Amino acid sequence: MNIRIKSAAILMAVYPSFLAAENFAVLPQLETYKVPESWRQPVAPLKIADNTWQIGTQGITSLLLKGKEGSILIDGGMEQTAEHLLENIRRLGVAPTDLKLILHSQAHADHIGSLAKLKRVTGAQVVTNAESAVLMARGGANDIHFDDEILYPPIKADRILHDGEQVVLGDLRLRVHFIPGHTPGSMAWTWEDKVDGKTADIAYVDSLTAPGYQLIDNRRYPNIVEDFRTSFARVQDFPCDLLLTPHAPASGWEFKNIAIQKKTVSCRQYAQKAEAKLNKKLEAERDTAN
Ligand SMILES: [Zn+2]
Repeated sequence: MNIRIKSAAILMAVYPSFLAAENFAVLPQLETYKVPESWRQPVAPLKIADNTWQIGTQGITSLLLKGKEGSILIDGGMEQTAEHLLENIRRLGVAPTDLKLILHSQAHADHIGSLAKLKRVTGAQVVTNAESAVLMARGGANDIHFDDEILYPPIKADRILHDGEQVVLGDLRLRVHFIPGHTPGSMAWTWEDKVDGKTADIAYVDSLTAPGYQLIDNRRYPNIVEDFRTSFARVQDFPCDLLLTPHAPASGWEFKNIAIQKKTVSCRQYAQKAEAKLNKKLEAERDTAN
C-alpha cells in the first residue's frame, strides 16, 4: 500500500482548497541591514602605495593588491558593493579573472557581504581561518553577539590558514596575524609596499571594538576579554609604517577624491585606544551588574 498517496488524498479531502489557485498576498521585502551612507558611497580607485589601492567606499575599506602574477583583494564590503568593486578592478587594468585570491579581516556582513558574488564572477580563491570559515559558510547566522540580524550570502572557503602563515602570489607576499576579539576569527595582514619611493611596512588590522557586546560572563565567548587583551598586545608590535583599518576613520583615513591619512595613527596608538575603550566598557558593565 502506498501510504504517501493515501495521506495526500486525505489532505485534499479535508482541505479542498489545498491545490486550488488563490489570491495570495505578495511576499514582504526582506529587512535590510541598514548602515550609514558613507559605507555605501563608492569611490574611484585610490592609491595607498605603489601596488595597494582602496577600491571600496568612503567608509569601508576594500584593498586591491596588484601583482605581476595576479591580484589579491582584502575585504569586499557590503553585499551591494560587488558590482562597484568589479568596476574598480577593471579600472585599474586588472581583468576580473586575474583576481586570484580573496582575503579578509572579519566575517561580518559589512566587510565580506559581496564575497560570494566576487568569488563566483572572478573564480578567485577565498583564503581565511577556521573560525571565520564557519561563520562565512553560514552567511553570518548564529553570530555570538548579533544572532541572525547581520546576514549575507554564504561563502565557501578554499584555504584555511594558521596564525603567522604567509600567503604568496607571485611578487605579493602577506602574513596573517590572528587577533580574536571583535570576532573570534578576526585577522590582521602585514606586507611590504613602496610609498613615495620608500619601502613601507603596511598593516591592515581588523576592528578592535566590541559594539553592544556582553564582555562579562558571556556564555558563548567566555574568554572574550582575555582574547582582546592578547590581541591588543600583538597589534602594538606589528611592523607598521602605515596602518589601515576596515573602517577608514579608525586609522585616521579619509577616502574621497584621494586617499589621505588626515591623522596618523600608529598600530600602538590604535591598540592602546581600543584597550582604553574596552576598559571603560568593562567598568560600565560592572556598574550595571552591581
Ligand atoms: Zn564587525
